[in-house]
Amino acid sequence: MSYRFDTLAIHAGQPNDERTGAVTVPVYQTSTFQQLEPGVSRGFDYSRTAHPTRQALEQHLAALEGARYGLAFSSGMAAIHCVLSTLRSGDHVVATQDLYGGAWRIFTKYFAKFGVEFTFVDTTDPFAIEKAIQPTTQLLWLETPSNPLLKVTDISACVAIARRHGVRTVVDNTFATPVLQRPIELGADVVVHSTTKYINGHSDCLGGCTVTNDDLFYNNLKFFQNAIGAVPGPQDCFLILRGIKTLSLRMEKHCANARKIVDFLRGHEQVSRLYYPGFGAIVSFETDDPLAFAANTKLWTLAESLGSVKSLFCHPATMTHASMDADVRKSVGIGDGLIRLSVGLEDARDLIEDLEQALVVGRIACAR
Ligand SMILES: *Cc1c(COP(=O)(O)O)cnc(C)c1O
Repeated sequence: MSYRFDTLAIHAGQPNDERTGAVTVPVYQTSTFQQLEPGVSRGFDYSRTAHPTRQALEQHLAALEGARYGLAFSSGMAAIHCVLSTLRSGDHVVATQDLYGGAWRIFTKYFAKFGVEFTFVDTTDPFAIEKAIQPTTQLLWLETPSNPLLKVTDISACVAIARRHGVRTVVDNTFATPVLQRPIELGADVVVHSTTKYINGHSDCLGGCTVTNDDLFYNNLKFFQNAIGAVPGPQDCFLILRGIKTLSLRMEKHCANARKIVDFLRGHEQVSRLYYPGFGAIVSFETDDPLAFAANTKLWTLAESLGSVKSLFCHPATMTHASMDADVRKSVGIGDGLIRLSVGLEDARDLIEDLEQALVVGRIACAR
């Protein structure tokens, strides 16, 4: 029986507990498991390797992306680190140019040290990908919509090019979530998430995951997950499992609120440029005095991260993308006046009224 998304979001990987009938997957707060005889366990022997609450989450995440295998990590960066750990010195990666700052940092400041090479291109142009691929290219790394400029990449077109060259495609699906975009169904080989964001959705824990249908790649990832050990604890797995149950409902309201905010910002005299891909709930805009705006918001919280029930905003140049070299930031178009909004689930009228007053203060500050 193949269930639909909203049913999977409640049930996948989470049968009622066999022993007690508990309808929610228990938090197995244990580091190790009794063995029946040396080397013979009930399927779990040590929590770094496999863990029942984590296993429920892993099966759950795989089902949401329409894939067979999921692996959960202690953060989105840990998931990204694991995928890159499958490479060797001399391997090459083609990646989206305006990438999450932390991904850019681990690529260029960490994996580059071990001889992995990277080329960053505007992946909205499939020809740019074709040109960047080398004989040593192993991965095409896509982030779409991109961060913070929200450029949309055609996943199927990129996968077709990558396949022709024997290159695997990885998609960071954090911004869209499987509610809005399912890259595996579009041919991608691996999906990564920062489950810290919409998937958990409540700004109360960190997490990451990888999802794939590829047996070989999964086994490789599973080996490195255990070897490296950046796994989430049982309580965090529980929180993320709980968050997912309302993912679809939350995304509906996040998106509806974002559309109202876009209608307000479009044409506003303090907004010189507006970035919105037409879906999702991240909206970026440029304004003359982002610092005055930041100082004057009352309801919106100035914070890193996104995808929370609470509306957050950030100044990418000094926050999420401060880890990117200034000249790179400029060249990809992340200006100093850019503000990125993560639209939450409050009443959109309150969110808009707060934006309105913060932008007016900005105008007065500019006039002085
Ligand atoms: C936040 C984020 C990450 C990193 O995830 P953490 O959970 O913070 O480690 C990776 N990719 C994208 C697109 C993100 O927004």
